Amino acid sequence: MTSAAPRYDHFIDGSLVAGTAYTENRNPSDTGDLIGLYAKGGVAEADAAIEAAARAFPGWAATPIAERSAVLQRISAGITAREGELADMLAREEGKTLAESIGEVRRAAATFAYYAGEVLSARGSVYASLATPATIETVHRPVGVVGIITPWNFPIAIPAWKSAPALAYGNTVVLKPAELTPGTSWLMAEIIHASGCPDGVFNFVMGAGREIGVRLCESPDVQAITFTGSSAVGRTVAAAAVAHGMKKVQLELGGKNPLIVMDDADLEIAVDAAMDGAFGSTGQRCTASSRLIVHDAVHDRFIEALVQRMRGLTVGDARAAGTTMGPVVSESQLEQDLKYIEIARSEGGQLAFGGERVEAETPGYYLQPTLFTHTENDWRINQEEVFGPVATVIRVHDYAEALRLADAVEYGLSASIITSSLARARDFSARCRAGILAVNRSAAGTDLHVPFGGNKASSYGSREQGTAAREFFTTTSTVYTYA
Ligand code: NAP
Repeated sequence: MTSAAPRYDHFIDGSLVAGTAYTENRNPSDTGDLIGLYAKGGVAEADAAIEAAARAFPGWAATPIAERSAVLQRISAGITAREGELADMLAREEGKTLAESIGEVRRAAATFAYYAGEVLSARGSVYASLATPATIETVHRPVGVVGIITPWNFPIAIPAWKSAPALAYGNTVVLKPAELTPGTSWLMAEIIHASGCPDGVFNFVMGAGREIGVRLCESPDVQAITFTGSSAVGRTVAAAAVAHGMKKVQLELGGKNPLIVMDDADLEIAVDAAMDGAFGSTGQRCTASSRLIVHDAVHDRFIEALVQRMRGLTVGDARAAGTTMGPVVSESQLEQDLKYIEIARSEGGQLAFGGERVEAETPGYYLQPTLFTHTENDWRINQEEVFGPVATVIRVHDYAEALRLADAVEYGLSASIITSSLARARDFSARCRAGILAVNRSAAGTDLHVPFGGNKASSYGSREQGTAAREFFTTTSTVYTYA
């Protein structure tokens, strides 16, 4: 262990709390680069953070909305002021290119600014009684202590889009980031602490999900859990949270998202959408378009144009100028991607491009963008989430077949169609069961002020983002007044 590496401690009750142990975190673009030593907490640190959040809750819930809003504005400004440092850490720990990292940091700043404004318009509803001379109102209150459990692939955007509404609506927070990428959200926690957020309102504890995450789900002093991660872990989170106190639970999970390219598609748009959807952020997005469902009439031309564009990607160090696709996040993720490449081969897929590790100047987890053609939708490669830069083509004969296959997976997060037919676009919007649909664009990116979430095995509970987040981060009471 290198003693010169910076140490990052927990934030509990307004103070930095040293770890009893520390974990090394290395740069996936260059495994010789030790980013830092991160405190590794367990049940004791989780409990201390939960107790602090529970103590701070009544005061924060009673804090005037304008004051809570001002804290969020200062957090947003703090993120913007440190944008370069945050983006550098994000690229260094997760492997997104610098351009992608700056985009993610800006989104986090915009999310805090959005909720600083959104909370000012918080309102209930007033109803006329149907039978009695009563006034009926709904009032929304903070829920309590919210446990936030986040994945490694958006290490500031997701912590921000959960923490901002949690704090805005008067809840206190214990955030557990993913072990693979704690650095960017640690910097966010530091900014929150410098923003005038009272002690105990926002706590940040690092360590293993199976210890801290489990404790958050099981603690009687946590009233809500918002989780983003894999469907497998999400199921255990929901079961534990419900078994221990019927907590509110919100899950955002995996995807196996289709991009349909119809016979009347503009192929330039289709290739742009496939490049962004399948290989943006090295394919490590829950909304990644990993299944390309392509009509017979354009199949060969689409593949040729897509492969041409894939050749133009420069795989390399996430922070190097000229890199257009960074590494995958870790050795185990690389092994998973290579395993699925072998599965696709063994199932009969034809490798149109990629499939191999890339040797770069620095030792890192580099993989070629990879495309398999002539695959069948019911193969494992098309049913299971790879979570890397690996896409497949499924050939179809008509729209009905395309629509049927788009939904023929357990997931339902995002889906897109490229078509010049308005009628087909409207039909797709009405019938495809994914939670986020896009016409003539990849469905991988979303706006921060509109509801976000999937259907089927991709999500559980109420939507995230925008005004939809109020549903999860508040409780509702209906009040009958007879005056
Ligand atoms: P993961 O393995 O499920 O981990 C997510 C978080 O849960 C991490 O902080 C992890 O901690 C923690 N955790 C692990 N076991 C736990 C347990 N038993 N109880 C409570 N928490 C536990 O997911 P990931 O590999 O970080 O992220 C990739 C997955 O997230 C993909 O499936 C992707 O599709 C999904 N995702 C979904 C969305 C969406 O909005 N739908 C967005 C982004 C990512 P450790 O770090 O210690 O393991």
